[in-house]
Amino acid sequence: MRKFMLSALALALLGCQDKADTQAPAATAPAAQSQVEATPVAQLPRWAEPSHYQLTLWVDPDQPGFKGQGEIALQLTQASDHLWLHAKDMSQLDIKVVTAEGEILDTQVEDKDDTGVIRLALPKTLSPQQLTLKFDYQAPYNQSLEGLYKVSEGGRNYAFTQFESIDARRAFPGFDEPSFKVPFDLTLVVPKAMKAVANTPEVARREEGELAYVQFATTKPLPTYLLAFAVGDLDIVQWQDLPKTAVRERSVPLRGVAVHGKGDKLKFALENTAGIVETLENYFGIPYPYQKLDIIAVPDFAAGAMENPGAITYREQLLLMDDSAPFWQKRSYASVHAHELAHQWFGDLVTMPWWTDIWLNEAFATWAGNKAAAKWGPDWGYDLGIAQGGQRAMGADSLVNMREIRQPILHNADISNAFDGITYQKGGAVLQMFEHFVGPEVFQKGVHQYLTDHAWGNASAEDFVGAIAKAADNDAVNQAFMSFLTQTGVPKVAIERHCQDGKAELKVTQSRYLPLGSKGDANRTWDLPFCFEADGERHCQLLTEKQSTLALNSCPSTLLPNAGGTGYYRFSLDDWQPLFATLPTLGKAEALGVLDSFNAALSDGSLPLDSYLAQVPAIAQLKDRELATAPLGQLGFILAHQAKDKDALRGQFQAWYGPRLAALGLAAKAGESKDDTLLRSTLAAFLADKARTPALRSALSAAAEAHLAGKDAGIAPDLIGLALEVWVQDKGQPAFDSLKARLMASQDAVVRQRALQALASVEAPALAAQARDLALAEGLRVNERFMLMGGQAYGLETMADTYQWFKEHRQGVEAVWPASGRKRIVSGFSGFCSLDKAKDLEAYFGQLAYEGGERNLKAAVESIELCAARAGQ
Ligand SMILES: [Zn+2]
Repeated sequence: MRKFMLSALALALLGCQDKADTQAPAATAPAAQSQVEATPVAQLPRWAEPSHYQLTLWVDPDQPGFKGQGEIALQLTQASDHLWLHAKDMSQLDIKVVTAEGEILDTQVEDKDDTGVIRLALPKTLSPQQLTLKFDYQAPYNQSLEGLYKVSEGGRNYAFTQFESIDARRAFPGFDEPSFKVPFDLTLVVPKAMKAVANTPEVARREEGELAYVQFATTKPLPTYLLAFAVGDLDIVQWQDLPKTAVRERSVPLRGVAVHGKGDKLKFALENTAGIVETLENYFGIPYPYQKLDIIAVPDFAAGAMENPGAITYREQLLLMDDSAPFWQKRSYASVHAHELAHQWFGDLVTMPWWTDIWLNEAFATWAGNKAAAKWGPDWGYDLGIAQGGQRAMGADSLVNMREIRQPILHNADISNAFDGITYQKGGAVLQMFEHFVGPEVFQKGVHQYLTDHAWGNASAEDFVGAIAKAADNDAVNQAFMSFLTQTGVPKVAIERHCQDGKAELKVTQSRYLPLGSKGDANRTWDLPFCFEADGERHCQLLTEKQSTLALNSCPSTLLPNAGGTGYYRFSLDDWQPLFATLPTLGKAEALGVLDSFNAALSDGSLPLDSYLAQVPAIAQLKDRELATAPLGQLGFILAHQAKDKDALRGQFQAWYGPRLAALGLAAKAGESKDDTLLRSTLAAFLADKARTPALRSALSAAAEAHLAGKDAGIAPDLIGLALEVWVQDKGQPAFDSLKARLMASQDAVVRQRALQALASVEAPALAAQARDLALAEGLRVNERFMLMGGQAYGLETMADTYQWFKEHRQGVEAVWPASGRKRIVSGFSGFCSLDKAKDLEAYFGQLAYEGGERNLKAAVESIELCAARAGQ
């Protein structure tokens, strides 16, 4: 799954209640287990395992609910008078058990907890044997984008699914865990005027009265969370097959799917699929594993995209484009598409046994997707994607209240917490670090072996890390990898150089990086793949101790402590100047690593603010986009929380970065590089939003008006969203009303997204109040409500009022928010910077006690306390 930034707050997690199963066994059918066995709080027991599902679902999106019927073949391996499985939000659920001898037994369904664990009481104890569960049920369409849900657009209704992590149980009863990986036979019964798509190709369609029975080919073994389908008056665009490749001897049918009238906007996405698939196939050395590929644009979707095998779903903004689409949209499409396609191997072909190892899916898809995208579009600005993601993750990973990449999931309420920056971005960066350490060819060999050994099955972190260590013929890789997977925190490396008689001794000390004001313990070590360069010569070794001594045959004049720039660690220096002098000669990734450690030195208090600011003018002149813009985050913090004279600082921002934006201009130049397009967007946003440069703001405002009047805006298409934000901020109520009307009148996802982001950005109190109220108004999709609430909570000027508004409208917010994602609401308020607010949050959210939200609350409070510590220094 790919998270969507603005709806990250909305990622779902089901609440959970632990209720010990204290019921006495049926008097007529005593069985030893039921007297002692409590309701499973996470994984179901393994003594009843499914081997096949046959499902028939009647899905008419014009109705308030759906019904289903099915059979699950099951192997019982120990005697029992009950079974455990999952089903949630169903009515009239009736389950019968057919024994190996054909006896049909009625069962009693007992709901056991809020996460959908049910106990099936049998009328007698059954000995180990092959069983069949036969069931029928009814259920409503879900209201918050979980399970099987309904979307309306243009007077038509559609049904879509999102089952990851634990929402397949809302669509059919079953064993809703990733280790139960079996084939499915699915039939959808839909109104005959409608179409249906699923993971596999349609193999038969028969009409009976007003209904069509659409039968799909048997799937490869799948966990429940990867099953997917869509129903409605869909536009289905048949594209040319993915042609045979060096590693695939068959072509693969490719289609694009969208709601009615939007099929013609799938062209760009379809055209640019074969190249990405081929890039991944060449890397893995394994053909695309599934029979066909559909890419499906969903108008309302909580995540960014979902890797359902053969039927990948995306939010519309990522897939639907015409020729005038801005570059950011095409670029997001390709990177998310590459991520989801990488999952077809990592996650789908080989699946983690339990959510503890979700990083194997997500870290890997992040890393491999970025690699494939960078190879597919070498000039699209993906090359530092993993390094930049890792550096963002280091910010979060500096908190004491952070989770490990491989945090044990002991409770269903923890599952959705695992879909965070630690899993995706830290995980991706750690993979890249070890790829660099063992060498890319060796790493690729290990990946290929791992996928081959576990194809169609499940595999864990030990299997993956073991395969890499074996390919590298280096056992130490196992422990080193695990030291990053099972510990929180960012390593910090300090180097002391002692030279004597033309030789050098380097004392290298590791500790945990902690920001200023942290209450954490710095005493922590990793088995750290450490690569450094001394006078241009590279040395790599594993540091396994707190202190290591490295000998060199010469006394180096310069030392680069993160050679290659792939290390997930930071380093400290007493004097940054010598390294800064070499910046223009370093590789991009290496230079970015230096700037990250430099930024980190400001955050931990080891570098004075004046010394930091003194370097910014030179950094702003660096040629590469990622390097020149590396200080922008820190500058934003300084402006918000530390500047004594904000206007003076804004003037400096303009002096440092204004000339670079002026050189680029606001309009796109014919044939300009994609890096220039990206740099223009970043700088314009910074200068308009942080520097508040008046001339820039009026130019953007004028462009917004031209755009809204249907004229040529005279600015790059990538700046339209920013222009609308500036316009509504500066023009007030009339602009707000006009954008709101535009939002409500349009079904175009990009038009709506731009309007929503602009409306979410308003700061004037009266308008901001309207923006928040709009979040709960009629006519908005679920994921759009999060854009408004998230934008208002994020804004420095609006976060306090938004917090108050949330307190006053909590029930309204909870009604539109997926119950399982409520624990993340608190993270939306982690931008505060005062101890009072930290205390307030602690008390308020502490008393709300959202399931699984304890760590999120602690992390939010810690972030606020750290901000206050730094602001007050
Ligand atoms: Zn993913």
